[in-house]
Amino acid sequence: MPIQEPFVPAITQPPITRRNFLHRGGIAGLVASGLTGQFLWPANGPLVAVGATGTNAREVVRNRAPLAASAFYPLPLGAIRPSGWLKGQLEIQAKGLSGHLDETWADVGPNSGWLGGTGESWERGPYFLDGLIPLAWQLDDARLKAKAQKFIDWTLEHQAANGMIGPATNNDWWPRFVMLKSLTQYEECTGDARVIPVMERYFRYQLGELPTRPLRDWGKFRWQDEVLTVLWLYNRTGSAWLLDLARLLHQQGFDWQAQYANFQFKQRMTAEFLKLQEGEGLKDLALSTHGVNNGQAIKAGPVWSLVSGADADRDAVLSMMATLDKYHGLPNGMFSCDEHFAGLDPSQGSELCTVVETMFSLEQSFAITGHASLGDRLERLAFNALPGALTDDMWAHQYNQEPNQVECSLHQKPWTTDGPESNLFGLEPNFGCCTANFSQGWPKFAASLFMLSGAQDATANDGLVAAVYAPCEVNTVLRGTKVKVVEETDYPFRGSVRITVNPALPLGFTLQLRIPAWAAGTTITVNGREEPAPAAGSFAKIDRTWNSGDRVEINFPMQPRVSHWFHDSIAIERGPLVFSHGIGESWVKLRDRGMTADWQVFPTSAWNYALNVDEGAVEKSIAVTESPLGEAPFSAAHAPMRLTVKARKLDAWRAEDGAANPLPQSPVASDLPEETITLIPYAAAKLRITAFPQLKS
Ligand SMILES: [Zn+2]
Repeated sequence: MPIQEPFVPAITQPPITRRNFLHRGGIAGLVASGLTGQFLWPANGPLVAVGATGTNAREVVRNRAPLAASAFYPLPLGAIRPSGWLKGQLEIQAKGLSGHLDETWADVGPNSGWLGGTGESWERGPYFLDGLIPLAWQLDDARLKAKAQKFIDWTLEHQAANGMIGPATNNDWWPRFVMLKSLTQYEECTGDARVIPVMERYFRYQLGELPTRPLRDWGKFRWQDEVLTVLWLYNRTGSAWLLDLARLLHQQGFDWQAQYANFQFKQRMTAEFLKLQEGEGLKDLALSTHGVNNGQAIKAGPVWSLVSGADADRDAVLSMMATLDKYHGLPNGMFSCDEHFAGLDPSQGSELCTVVETMFSLEQSFAITGHASLGDRLERLAFNALPGALTDDMWAHQYNQEPNQVECSLHQKPWTTDGPESNLFGLEPNFGCCTANFSQGWPKFAASLFMLSGAQDATANDGLVAAVYAPCEVNTVLRGTKVKVVEETDYPFRGSVRITVNPALPLGFTLQLRIPAWAAGTTITVNGREEPAPAAGSFAKIDRTWNSGDRVEINFPMQPRVSHWFHDSIAIERGPLVFSHGIGESWVKLRDRGMTADWQVFPTSAWNYALNVDEGAVEKSIAVTESPLGEAPFSAAHAPMRLTVKARKLDAWRAEDGAANPLPQSPVASDLPEETITLIPYAAAKLRITAFPQLKS
C-alpha cells in the first residue's frame, strides 16, 4: 500500500519548477509528535530514564574502570525531544527521502541483503538504519519505527551459529561497524533484550577471527567507529575480553595520529599522486587521504584515550582539526574532500557523507574531551554544510557541495576522482553512499543538545551541559530527582536562548552553558539577575539550587563578523551562520528517479562580486534585516534574515566548466559601479558565493 503518492512523471506535466517540486515533496501538513516517558531511580544506578511503555530502561551509562572518564555523557536516545524549528526540520526529513528511501531505492528496499534478500548486502542497509533509528524514535513516528524494526529483527534473528551477523554473502567487517552503531542506538531507545547477547556473540567471534582475517581497507581506516561500540558494550557488561578486542582493533587499524603528527598532504590530491590509474584505489595512500575516512577519524584520538588514558590521545582531535583547517579548511566549516583532500580553494567540494560523519565525530569527541571549540564546529556544520547539501524538502541531496558553487550541472571540473554528477541535487548523484548515510545528520545533532556532566564518582555533583543550541525539551533524572528542561530559542537565527529548569523538587546541580568562541559579550541572567560575564570559548557554570520554573536567559551577540580564507578572501558570519550571496537559480530536471528526481541548477544572475567591507567597523558596512522564521528556515524563501553589503563586480573572475575559477588574490581593484548585494544563510543559497575577494579600501 503506497504511503505517499509517487511523483507524476514530468512528461505528463508542465515543466516542474522548484516551487512545485518542493510542494510535492510535502513540507506541508507536518504532524506534531513527541516521546513521552517516565523516570525511575534504581537502587544502584546513576541515572535511568524509562521509556513510554514503562518497561524499557535507558541509562546514562558512564565509563567503567579501567576506562578513563569522559568529560560529558550523551543522554539516552529519546531523553531529548526536539521542538520549535528543529522539530520541524526533523519532520521535513521524515516526510522527505529519509522517511521513504526504502520505497523508492532498491538498495534499501525489500530485497536488501540486510532483510535476507539478494540485493545490496554491504553498507547501505546499515547506513540507512543509523539515521532512521534516531529520526524515528525522536519523532516517536510509528511508521518509521516499523521500517527500522524490519532490519533490526532480521539482523537479530539471523545470527550465524559462529556469531557472525549480516548477509552471509559478504563477510566484510566494515558494514557491520555501522550495523553495530545502529544496534546501540536501538537498544538505548527500546531496551530490546536481544541486542546485547547478539553483540556479545558477534564480538567474541570477531576476536577469534581477527588474527587470521584482519581489518582491511575501509574497516582498517575506520576502526575507531567499532571501538566506540565495543566500549559501549563493555560499559554495560564489564567483560574484560572486550577491551582485548578494542586493543586488537586499534593495533590492526590505521595510525591516524601518526599521519597527523607528520602531515604530508598539504595540497590538493591528484589522481597521479594517488596512483588511481594503477588500480591502487583502495591502497593506504588513497584511503588515508579520503574525506569520509578522515571525517570519521577525527574521533580516533578521543575514543582511544578512553582505553589508553593518555591526554595526548584525547587532545589529538584539536591538532587534527587545526591541520585540516590549515591545509584544507573551507568557510562552511568543512575540509575539502572531493573526495580526497582538495586544498583551500572554495570552488572545491566536500562530500555529504563527510559532513555527517564529521558531525558524529565531533559529537563523540565533544562528549569525551569537553572542549568547547568542538561544539562550535558542530554547530557550524549542522547549520551550514548539512542543510546546504540538501534541498529544502530533503528529497534530494548533493554528493559534493562547494562554498563557491556557481552552477550544479554535469561537469568534471574541479573534481579529481569524482564523476560529473557530483554537484547535482538528486537521488544518488555520483554514488549512493550519501543517499543512505545523510539521514544521521539532524537526528544525532538533536540527540546531542544536552549532555550529562560529572565525574565517575557517583557522589560528585553531576549536572547538565548545554552542548549545542536549538529548541528542545529534556526529561532526565539527576540524583533521583526528575528534571525537565525546556529550551526555547530561534537560535541560530537569533541570539536569545531561554532555558527553563523544572526539577520535581528543589535540587542543587551545575548547569554548564557552552559559550562559543565568537560570542564575546554574551550576557546571562538567572531569574532576571545578571550572572558574571562569561568567557567566550568556554563554559559558563551556574551552580545553584534549582527550583521549578527557574529561568536562564542567554543573549549571544549577533553582530556580523568577517573571517579570512583562501587568497585572503573574506566570508561574512553572524552567530554560527555563514552567509552567502545567493545567485539566481534555474532548476532543470535531468530525470525522474522514482519518488524523487535529479536536478541541475544553472545561474541566472551575476556572482563575480568583490566586497567592500571596513573590517574596523563591520557593523557600518553590513546591514541586517530580520524576518519571522518560516516552516523551512534554511530555505531562501523563508530566510529569517538578510544582510546587505556594498560590492563591485570583478570582470576577470569567471567560471569554467561550471566551476568558479580560483579567487583572485585580495585585495582587488574594480572600476565597475558599486552595487548593494544581499547575503542569505549559506544553506539557503544553493548557488552561492561564500568566500569573496575584498576590495581595496
Ligand atoms: Zn557519500
